[in-house]
Amino acid sequence: MADFRDIPNSDMEAAVHEAFDQYELVEEFNSFNFVCPYCGELPKSKFVKPERKAYVYKDTWNFVCYKCRPAHNVMWEFQESYPDIFRRLLFYNTVNGGKGPQERHKRVYVEGAYQFKDGELVSLEEENDPDVQTAIAFCKKRQIREKVYKQWFVCKKDKRFLDKNPDGTLKLNAYGLPTGNEYGNRLIIPYYRFGGSWVQFDARDLTNKSKMRYRNYAGAKRELYNGDFLHFNKPFFMLEGAIDSTFIKNSVAVGGLKHFKSFVEADPNFKEYKENGVIIFDADEAGIDDLRTVMNMGFKWFDWSKFRNDNPNSIDYGGKVKDINEAVLNCSEFKMTPDGYVDPEFIMAHTYSAEAGIMMLNMKYGAPRKR
Ligand SMILES: [Zn+2]
Repeated sequence: MADFRDIPNSDMEAAVHEAFDQYELVEEFNSFNFVCPYCGELPKSKFVKPERKAYVYKDTWNFVCYKCRPAHNVMWEFQESYPDIFRRLLFYNTVNGGKGPQERHKRVYVEGAYQFKDGELVSLEEENDPDVQTAIAFCKKRQIREKVYKQWFVCKKDKRFLDKNPDGTLKLNAYGLPTGNEYGNRLIIPYYRFGGSWVQFDARDLTNKSKMRYRNYAGAKRELYNGDFLHFNKPFFMLEGAIDSTFIKNSVAVGGLKHFKSFVEADPNFKEYKENGVIIFDADEAGIDDLRTVMNMGFKWFDWSKFRNDNPNSIDYGGKVKDINEAVLNCSEFKMTPDGYVDPEFIMAHTYSAEAGIMMLNMKYGAPRKR
């Protein structure tokens, strides 16, 4: 499937007309301007000038209402309010024409992406493949939703995927070791962008023999996991790891505090809508200072550190839950929705404002250490 940026401008323009002409739309050279579908009111008489606060810009295809909505890609608006338009643009009306959703796992060349070799990467939809079965067993054990893991891959480990010189000999690195197939025997979790392309990914070891359980693709800069799909205008959640984030609606994974800070710098929406932002970081002793830092930036905090593993059949029975995935699996107090997410109301019931959260931490762990 093509990247949404590959959708022809003419198709985007037609879609904007289709969706927003009903809101007194006027087309200008580089933008569309119309009455906001959310906060605006259409004038009752022809003689009243409509208040057009909403714009779609033709260079970025960003939608913004200067009264009520942060700038984000208009495709989000289509996805939320005009699903037919959204689907048509993404799946049926791209430059390549008529590619159905059945091809959505076909990987197109993306600048800067790690080039897996033909056959090295197998979609978890290929259920007959033994490596896929191992990966699916891993996902099922963690109760990761099928809809989520079917978008993931397993990287096969095989000598035929090693890099070769033109003369057929193996390519060696500075240490004399063969290169290529670095992610063999790992579950590949792509950081999908809008439209289905991806560059960054997590690679989770499936053998439990590797010292590095998780690896990122180091050849490209870090990205937010699910960053293209975050809605800032309602509560949004920021977790450390991608797998944990799949249990939380409207969430991203940030990797850690250092990366989180750079994402906040890069996207002004984080600061503008910080009162909607809830951090779900690990709350062990080591993480306390990170939590303080994040709350000093104005974000809220979901305190799940008080919950205990109460599943007598699990190894860590009786201990504090260590991450969201463990809580989902082994803490009966964690309320889930029928579709497999942690209940948003449950989260908000245990969420502190920035001020209250800092006070809580100070009471529990003492004032912040001087550095
Ligand atoms: Zn508005």
